[in-house]
Amino acid sequence: MRIGVMGGTFDPIHLGHLRAAEEIYLAFGLDRIVFVPAARPPHKDTGDVAAPIHRYEMVSLATVFTPDFTVSPIELNRPGTSYSVDTIRELLRMYGKETLLYFIMGVDAFLELSAWKEARELLRLTQVIVTARPGWRLDEVERVLTPVQQAALGHPTFKYLRISEVGPELAQGAPVPGLVLLVEVVSLDISSREIRQLVEEGRSVRFLVPDTVAAYMQKNRLYQKRPTRPRGGGRKEEDLHRG
Ligand code: ATP
Ligand code: MG
Repeated sequence: MRIGVMGGTFDPIHLGHLRAAEEIYLAFGLDRIVFVPAARPPHKDTGDVAAPIHRYEMVSLATVFTPDFTVSPIELNRPGTSYSVDTIRELLRMYGKETLLYFIMGVDAFLELSAWKEARELLRLTQVIVTARPGWRLDEVERVLTPVQQAALGHPTFKYLRISEVGPELAQGAPVPGLVLLVEVVSLDISSREIRQLVEEGRSVRFLVPDTVAAYMQKNRLYQKRPTRPRGGGRKEEDLHRG
């Protein structure tokens, strides 16, 4: 089996994540995409992040009509900080050594990869596919990495290509160790941060997230502005917001 793995905070999942996954799934002829929400991301202040179970539920709802897109609770069930390399090892144990894993990440995430736990090992255990994201130059990735970062990644080689250039040798062949694929996909200028901001301001997020996710956010009042106490007497605003 050939499985695409996409990790992230998914706070919340949006159409940018889903479109990138869809393009890679189709071009590489993968059997499945597994989204892995990080329970305790090493690089984010978890105090500001929605509860893991909410983020997991939203990924589940976002993929409900897409049979080959699934969500894994693997990082939710593991205590401590969520490190991708541990997740990859666990997935290989679960699926068996014959399974090929394609680790999909946006270019912004890849530029931080050298600081991740056992980054070199991650590149050895999976085929890393870096996808375009508005605001970042995919064709400049190799040039902007410092020698120290290149070394931390084990001096990988890079191949830059458009999604239409992913031929059978890449789509059917085994991953090449130490090769990083930089793939131009249709990338949508959407971020979770922008969605949280829109919700907080009471503005529409339609067509940025799946409708199921929008409904879930509303039902659970995620990202909404904290009610402030009204001046003077009367009921507190907090009371009005209680169900
Ligand atoms: P935040 O704004 O909170 O950082 P985000 O939109 O960047 O959220 P993450 O959960 O941080 O989403 O990202 C998970 C993965 O998805 C990363 O590899 C990231 O590069 C990728 N990604 C995020 N948004 C997009 C997008 N619009 N297009 C392509 N890839 C994306
Ligand atoms: Mg991000």
